[in-house]
Amino acid sequence: MDSSYIQVTPIKQSKIDTVDFNKLDFGRVFSDYMFECDYKNGEWQTPVIKPYGPISLDPSARVFHYGQAVFEGMKAYKDDNDDIFLFRPDENLKRINKSSERLAMPAFPENYFFDGLTKLLHLEKNWIKKGFGNSLYIRPFVIATQPAISASPSEDYKFMIILSPAQAYYAGEVRVLFAEKYSRSANGGVGFAKAAGNYAAQFFPTSLAHKKGYQQIIWTDANTHEYLEEAGTMNIFFRIGDKLITAPNNDRILDGITRKSIIQLAKDNGIEIEVRPVSVAEIKDAARKGELKEIFGTGTAAVINPIVGFGHSEEDFELPKLEKSYASFFKEKLMNIQYNKSQDPYGWRVKI
Ligand SMILES: *Cc1c(COP(=O)(O)O)cnc(C)c1O
Repeated sequence: MDSSYIQVTPIKQSKIDTVDFNKLDFGRVFSDYMFECDYKNGEWQTPVIKPYGPISLDPSARVFHYGQAVFEGMKAYKDDNDDIFLFRPDENLKRINKSSERLAMPAFPENYFFDGLTKLLHLEKNWIKKGFGNSLYIRPFVIATQPAISASPSEDYKFMIILSPAQAYYAGEVRVLFAEKYSRSANGGVGFAKAAGNYAAQFFPTSLAHKKGYQQIIWTDANTHEYLEEAGTMNIFFRIGDKLITAPNNDRILDGITRKSIIQLAKDNGIEIEVRPVSVAEIKDAARKGELKEIFGTGTAAVINPIVGFGHSEEDFELPKLEKSYASFFKEKLMNIQYNKSQDPYGWRVKI
């Protein structure tokens, strides 16, 4: 890999010594450098790496008016030998380009993405801390920058990567509310894309759920609210008896990399897995019979987030506390691969 074409503007002084790595609030602290690449005159210009800091945009930049913006979430991991790894990064590039396509934005070139990310991470290697659970969260994103407020796609864009150190993520006890009124996505919409606007649309209904004592919403299909789809920033799995069930991908559901990795691990570890629509009625019925053993969310930030209970139609259900949960089994399997503590027969772990 020759990334010498990516010029680096050096920082004056690193701020790493001002950061308490044992007390990190997720997504609040950013590393010293950022990656930036502009799209102008129909092509991506030569990318650069420069000190992390504010960017200047015209107030009429289209991103502010029409939400033409997509993003990704990935992590860099370090093993005990100071080697740095990514997890299935090709999937993130594919997905950001799929998201961009849906929002009428240009695809980002593979070589710029990997050369830029690798160079940035090598520069910032001290920000990736060793230890199970520590990581450097990677946030690539693309925004529409053209100053013009007519409602049409931008001609100019900015692709950036910023980095934020993260510790093992613990969300506390998570109770969820099954959605009955609001929806995060609809047929033919942008639910499958990591489009910025998908998240803004969830904040209000989620704040209503908070007031009722739930931390998150499990979104249901927009037509009938009878099928459970995903948790807004995570995909969702249900365990009935010893069988695992998760909804199939469609244009309302984000095609999670953690989700598809878990489906593969289940198959290869003799855990029965069904990928099919999951109805609210079926889950409530299983809960009443004591057959519902687990619900957990999956995503890059938390890996796996166990759910302790759920509410629907003024009824509340608690899940059993298990000694040997699938949630902890999969979390350990995945993290062992990510942190180079186990074999990786899938080639998911990429050393950079
Ligand atoms: C990012 C995201 C996920 C999880 O995807 P991973 O690739 O596993 O990190 C799930 N649902 C939504 C809506 C997301 O934005």
